[in-house]
Amino acid sequence: MLKKAAVLVMSCGALMVGCGSEPVDEQAEIVSNLVEAGFPESDIQIFDKKVYVGLDAEVDLEASREMLGAGADSEEQYRTKNLVGTSVTKICINPTSAFNSYSRLSEGLDLAIENYNAQGLRLTFARGPTTGCTANIAARTTSGVGGSAGFPKGGKPYNAINIGTGLQNYSADVNEHVITHEIGHTIGFRHSDYYDRSISCGSGGDEGQSNVGAIHIPGTPTTATVGGSVMNSCFRSTESGEWSSSDRTALGVLY
Ligand SMILES: [Zn+2]
Repeated sequence: MLKKAAVLVMSCGALMVGCGSEPVDEQAEIVSNLVEAGFPESDIQIFDKKVYVGLDAEVDLEASREMLGAGADSEEQYRTKNLVGTSVTKICINPTSAFNSYSRLSEGLDLAIENYNAQGLRLTFARGPTTGCTANIAARTTSGVGGSAGFPKGGKPYNAINIGTGLQNYSADVNEHVITHEIGHTIGFRHSDYYDRSISCGSGGDEGQSNVGAIHIPGTPTTATVGGSVMNSCFRSTESGEWSSSDRTALGVLY
């Protein structure tokens, strides 16, 4: 089992506010907001001055404040309270030149975009640079095997995905899987096994049932299985990169 964000775990332990350096006050508020929104402290990590929940989803100050907004009944495919608004119709994903220099990552991005566009959603995705974009996501590289991203805020998708260059050593399908997964976070998907990461990771616990941050998507199972969702926390080297049937249901409900 491959952890999506091994690189995030090694440096700073849980809740080590100030483990980076300067924006300590901002980090502290984000952490405090997340705790108030229901995330357990053990699942909040700080790495490179950024705050993450569930190991690979970055949360900034604005998003953490939005999570404290109007309460929604939550239960345990799962989404954040924040989604992409109807003013967004075409999301352009703009790879850096470094990203483009990794052939498997580049191929995976094309395949991930196809995954979304094949579903006939109200959102369409395009590889940038291009025109007519109503929202933009930067596709960047990071170290390691895995990726990270963040959740929507202000009606827009999160503005970046970070993909590990170690994935160059994996199949195009695995790259497709990881990039599809990280794009999923940017439009509001939480992990399908967020309540028990050991389902896909072999170890790990509950990322936290936020009172506003893990809303069950109608028509999808509340239980996760290995290989049952692109949005499982950890992935296998055998991933096909394709949606599961419940992934498709979840996408259709949200978008
Ligand atoms: Zn994830």
